[in-house]
Amino acid sequence: MMKQGIVYLVGAGPGDPGLITLRGRDCLRRADAVVYDYLANPCLLEEARADVEKIYVGKERGRHHLPQEQINELLAELAQAGKTVVRLKGGDPYLFGRGGEEALFLHRAGVEFEVVPGVTAAFAAAAYAGIPLTHRDYTTTLGLVTGHEKPEKKMSSLDWGKIATGMGTLVFYMGMVNLSLIVRELIRNGRSPQTPVAIVRWASTAQQHSLIATLEDVEEKARAASIGPPAVIIVGEVVDLHKRLAWFENRPLFGRRVLSTRAAAQASGLRDLLEERGAEVVSVPTIALAPPADWGPVDRELDRLAQTDLLILTSVNAVDFFFERLRSKGSDARALAGVTLVSVGPKTAEAFEPYGVKADLVAADYRAEGVVALLKEQGVQGRRVLYPHAELARTLIPDELRALGAEVAAPVLYRTVVPQEGGETLRELLVKGALDAVTFTASSTVDHFVAMVGEDAAPLLRGVVVVSIGPLTSRTARKHGIDVTIEPSDYTLEAMVEALAQHFKTHPTSPVRD
Ligand code: SAH
Repeated sequence: MMKQGIVYLVGAGPGDPGLITLRGRDCLRRADAVVYDYLANPCLLEEARADVEKIYVGKERGRHHLPQEQINELLAELAQAGKTVVRLKGGDPYLFGRGGEEALFLHRAGVEFEVVPGVTAAFAAAAYAGIPLTHRDYTTTLGLVTGHEKPEKKMSSLDWGKIATGMGTLVFYMGMVNLSLIVRELIRNGRSPQTPVAIVRWASTAQQHSLIATLEDVEEKARAASIGPPAVIIVGEVVDLHKRLAWFENRPLFGRRVLSTRAAAQASGLRDLLEERGAEVVSVPTIALAPPADWGPVDRELDRLAQTDLLILTSVNAVDFFFERLRSKGSDARALAGVTLVSVGPKTAEAFEPYGVKADLVAADYRAEGVVALLKEQGVQGRRVLYPHAELARTLIPDELRALGAEVAAPVLYRTVVPQEGGETLRELLVKGALDAVTFTASSTVDHFVAMVGEDAAPLLRGVVVVSIGPLTSRTARKHGIDVTIEPSDYTLEAMVEALAQHFKTHPTSPVRD
């Protein structure tokens, strides 16, 4: 028997992908097909299976990709073919999103459906722009109104008398085209011209923009700021609270577009740190990882772990490559029972954990120098040291440890190579001036960046804040003629992001916009 199809009408939330419900995400993960439109954040599609059928049905104002009747039929057909269908809708499906029409159609067609609510634009704008929609000192009533009626019904035929004074706070959806009519009718029907108004555009996203005005001057201010849809218009005394409660747009890196050049597998840590402070992160990896040209030297050392005293790993990548290779040889962490594990910095130490082992020694200075200093203290005379490393790593560790009397094996464990893709994207971002800052977390990210962008990388970076994690990376940048704007005193991602936040605080230039 064929699987019974079903349609989930899922609220995607207002934009911030973190605002979808757990139930909505579960539906996405199970879906065979996802039908989505332009207000649903497309990055939510990453939650779905890789082979999911993705169908974009548009709905940008004036650019309907698929008429509503055809969307309804499409949903029914997909479900009737036995598919689990997610109809992903911006905000909440039952608020001004024609979810009601879709559900009725499915009901008539005898198609099973369920509805998953979502965070609607008004609630997101309220939270993210610091405007509590109700507050006991201001108002206890709230009205949600569409500012864009069905074409056959006239906006002006709404009962403006009741709307204007019947509720404390009013939130208009789809109201930007009819802003002047809304303002006129509210004032004409008894709302004071001094009533505070907020227009919140792209609420909860990196593009959020809130404009504060009064009924009297909102039109003029909106025109001056050329603020268009999608936006909600919030009318009421509670808008005054924005001054004190706005937090989202006040984060230090809000509105800043920052490039991460880290390898894809490493990008999330930096991304999280930047996003927490409000930045919009564009990730174009300049590093791809590849196994060594020859595994022989590493494999020979893996067979001799019982005779090895110390194992030094100086990056998260090294830890991963090492343990993956160990595993593929049919061995595991027990082979390291008698070996002292040395890591550079806490991040690398953390990377040991998933493999069930703990670093014995963690260098405090996050560079090779730190490892050498640490082992000098410990004494390595006569010890067998294994230091599997990235190709092109500096020879400081083996050189110094040999000078201290250790026997050092230093096979190449992995190579960092320039990725095939991304060069075009990088050039385009730079040429368009679409970046506020570029971050480099290793010398190789600079070298590869230049290889990908081309020889004019340095002039293209003029006017962009260049952040380098430490002196070696900075030196490489300068070698390519790139001016480093910021280098933190602590060579960590945290310090780097903190320094960037500080920089924009003391250099409040306006963010790039495209
Ligand atoms: N179902 C959606 C509303 C769809 S109607 C919801 O519950 O939010 C489309 C209107 O929603 C837009 O014209 C705009 O007024 C509003 N809207 C949707 N997302 C928004 C956002 N991120 N910021 C501001 N307004 C938004």
